[in-house]
Amino acid sequence: MGVLFVTAEAYPFMKVGGLGDVAYSLPKSLKQIDVDIRVIMPKYKFPKKIKRKMKRVAHYTTYIGWKTVDCNLFTLKLDEVQYYFIDNPFYFYRTEAYGYHDDYERFIFFSKAVLEAIKYMDDFKLDIVHCNDWHSSLVIPLKDIYYRGNTIYDNIRTVFTVHNILYQGVYGKDLLWMLGLDEKEYFTEDKLRYEEGISFMKWAILSADRVTTVSKTYSEEIRQQHLGYGLSSILENKKHLLTGIQNGIDYDQFNPKEDKSIYFNYYCDNLDDKYKNKLKLQEDLGLVVDINIPVIGMVTRLVDQKGIGLLEGIINKLMNKNIQLVITGTGESHYEEDFRYFENKYDNFRAVLKFDEGFSRKVYAGSDIFLMPSKFEPCGLGQLIAMRYGTVPVVRATGGLKDTVEDYNKYTDDGDGFVFKEYNTIDFFSAIERSLDVFNNHKDSWNRLCVRIMNKDNSWRLSAAKYKNLYMKIAKLR
Ligand code: ADP
Repeated sequence: MGVLFVTAEAYPFMKVGGLGDVAYSLPKSLKQIDVDIRVIMPKYKFPKKIKRKMKRVAHYTTYIGWKTVDCNLFTLKLDEVQYYFIDNPFYFYRTEAYGYHDDYERFIFFSKAVLEAIKYMDDFKLDIVHCNDWHSSLVIPLKDIYYRGNTIYDNIRTVFTVHNILYQGVYGKDLLWMLGLDEKEYFTEDKLRYEEGISFMKWAILSADRVTTVSKTYSEEIRQQHLGYGLSSILENKKHLLTGIQNGIDYDQFNPKEDKSIYFNYYCDNLDDKYKNKLKLQEDLGLVVDINIPVIGMVTRLVDQKGIGLLEGIINKLMNKNIQLVITGTGESHYEEDFRYFENKYDNFRAVLKFDEGFSRKVYAGSDIFLMPSKFEPCGLGQLIAMRYGTVPVVRATGGLKDTVEDYNKYTDDGDGFVFKEYNTIDFFSAIERSLDVFNNHKDSWNRLCVRIMNKDNSWRLSAAKYKNLYMKIAKLR
């Protein structure tokens, strides 16, 4: 079984969010169950120590409309997985992965270059191309348009995974020239058309042999109008080919026993060492150092989806409690400004406005409670990482949060965290209050809860097997 996993980001080369984690950890797990999976992504501005390990495999050209564009293909192996990198300095030697005015052109180039790269992959019998999110969407339909009649390409089956349907790659139809496509034929409802513009993701969903998304609940939610962002009816029509497969996390990468970026390693047999992380985090951030004050953490993109607005709605009430709140993240500037203001206003509030993998682990390890009040959440990895570090999640029951966090039941003493249903400040606040009550007044139950969530299996073990089954099923379609 040969699979090419196409992605715009993969840890440790480039990570913006959950997709970066998945693109590293899922292929690694599939490799361990005998899937010959390789990953292909853009070659961004990497540090020298990574560049030194890369080998150039090929040099070729591709086209953006009438423009000839140069491309180098590089490769290296990491954790037994072969990675390929599409290299064009003009498009990709930038600090961020996305967010530029010419993203559409960059990822049209990427998709076309990926399709050409297939010709240069040695010892690889390619059965499946697995594309992820809008950046690699076009690989799927363009394969059939440009390579039909070529047996290697005709034999490839396609999987498309929706990691977040909000980001679809929606642009004006005047871009069709870049794809070399005729407006009459392709600006239609069954292809690219999305209202008066075009949606890259829509076309991938329509063309892929199978569509997956990252949790069971999200696979149901995106078929509803309010969460489908214009694609709900297409997904409803294709529901027999749509599966929700829960994301996992890499249990080696996120392991409090061995994580070098936290202050003290620990495991569930010794929670005292977890609390040492808390005390050191409090000290480092200039907070009152006190084991009895609950530290509430958040590691998140600062965007509307993550429920930052909801948090702002309760901030005054929350900060007046005997708690400390530590948020790390980057995102929309108005949220960053608000957080700077709150930091001045409250002694017990810290906002560390940066994207820093090492620091994020200190927050996961050093917090008692972890907040994810998302408006919607395809899967969410933050709550899984938090649980792995024994930090109790408070989440809204949506998407993957609903599937992975069971509400705590004080009578039966089971559950994984504190769950609220409706997106409103009252329910959010009362879920936090419930968590504080157990933390402050029922220490034994709290410690049992921490141990229980650390022992949960949220690794890729089950889900990687599901992807393998799916690949085998569609490879058999031939
Ligand atoms: P999303 O992909 O929507 O951002 P997920 O919860 O699926 O949300 O994944 C987010 C990933 O990005 C997690 O690994 C989280 O730890 C990481 N992350 C988010 N913000 C930061 C930050 N400021 N610094 C370091 N890592 C971060």
